[in-house]
Amino acid sequence: MDLEVVTIGTELLLGFTVDSNAAEISQALASIGGQVSRRTTVGDERDAIRAAVADALHRARFVIVTGGLGPTKDDITKHAVANIFQAPLELDRDYLATLERRFEKLGRGPMPETNRSQALVPRGAIVLPNPRGTAPGLWLEGAVGAVVMLPGVPHEMRWLLTHEVVPLCQERIVRGGGTPSMTRSRTLRTTGISESQLAVDVQAVEPGLAPITLAFLPTLGGVDLRLTAWSMPQAQADTALEAAVAALRPVLEMHVYGEGETDLAAVVLQALRRDKLSLAVAESCTGGLLGGRLTAIPGSSDCFAGGVISYANDSKVRDLGVSPALIDEFGAVSEQVAEAMAVGVCRRFETDVGVAVTGIAGPSGGTPEKPVGTVCFGAKVRHKQRAITRWIPGGRQEIRARATQAGLDAVRRMLQHD
Ligand code: ATP
Ligand code: MG
Repeated sequence: MDLEVVTIGTELLLGFTVDSNAAEISQALASIGGQVSRRTTVGDERDAIRAAVADALHRARFVIVTGGLGPTKDDITKHAVANIFQAPLELDRDYLATLERRFEKLGRGPMPETNRSQALVPRGAIVLPNPRGTAPGLWLEGAVGAVVMLPGVPHEMRWLLTHEVVPLCQERIVRGGGTPSMTRSRTLRTTGISESQLAVDVQAVEPGLAPITLAFLPTLGGVDLRLTAWSMPQAQADTALEAAVAALRPVLEMHVYGEGETDLAAVVLQALRRDKLSLAVAESCTGGLLGGRLTAIPGSSDCFAGGVISYANDSKVRDLGVSPALIDEFGAVSEQVAEAMAVGVCRRFETDVGVAVTGIAGPSGGTPEKPVGTVCFGAKVRHKQRAITRWIPGGRQEIRARATQAGLDAVRRMLQHD
């Protein structure tokens, strides 16, 4: 089932509001095998709305519209769409009574006259009741196709989408003799490998993954690899996805740390728990972000002991026992100092595992040998120690976020190698 989405609102065009409705509609319809083939946004203008919806209908014959169903003067969606269908607006007495009861229950006095307009329904439209607000959803169908109008307020739109629109669409697919199908995805999360290297690595297996498609989604934490099975019966989609994941895993090796929404910090904590190890962190340029990521995971106290934000050189010496001579010789941002910080924090907190981050987050402080984005990591797991240097792109906050992820990853890799 192909469809188009038209979102209405001048605030969307101005960029004051991010169009989350369109994204949610795409996802919800994909879950039952619908494919949004185009999305359009127009302002609160009758001619623009009429033209956008008419064009979308012409192409896809099924259109979901959000916004402009409220009681105010700028809410003209219903009028514009009814005009396409040549359907006059008529007062729906049942809905009017529902609205009046709603106002009575809220105890805010009689319903304002402006709200009467919300009980005006294009002739022939199905009214989709909206318990979250005053504007009902409207499903209007004719020779040109079908248009579903939903309120713009995201939580009202979402309620109608999941409780009315999705079930009605599913029914339609079954009635039309189709097998219920869906578009399903799985996501493999990778880190410590670039998008381009990842693309090269999967090249060999990619043709064999069909009909599953691959999308590379870079984030601050790494590159997510989304596998999608398009419009298939559920069991078939699940089997195809499972086979594709099984084919990709060996190629991606250590770079994959989890699936779906998995947080790298949770993976690290899980590995520590499995091996009955405790962890402490020493942070310079990440300034507490690493500890923040770890403590954001519920239950982290059973293996995370604590950490030191060791920003000034003095603190590295005093709080972590790094030798001043080491800092003089190699600089505060060096593998030698990072390793000494990791060793020092393990000693200080009496933990089995320590991880340290020291780097240049910018915008100043870079040198030709150590430009902004140079970050050194030290990790100690029991008696093993390791240090690495990474050159991280981006501005200050990006460098700090990426360095935090890389610090967690350094521990994960050492624990997995054990
Ligand atoms: P109302 O009864 O509130 O007037 P409505 O159906 O007329 O509802 P709008 O006036 O278009 O909807 O928008 C109401 C609110 O929902 C606004 O705060 C708007 O920014 C937000 N909104 C509208 N469309 C979207 C969208 N596509 N994505 C996210 N938010 C939206
Ligand atoms: Mg409005």
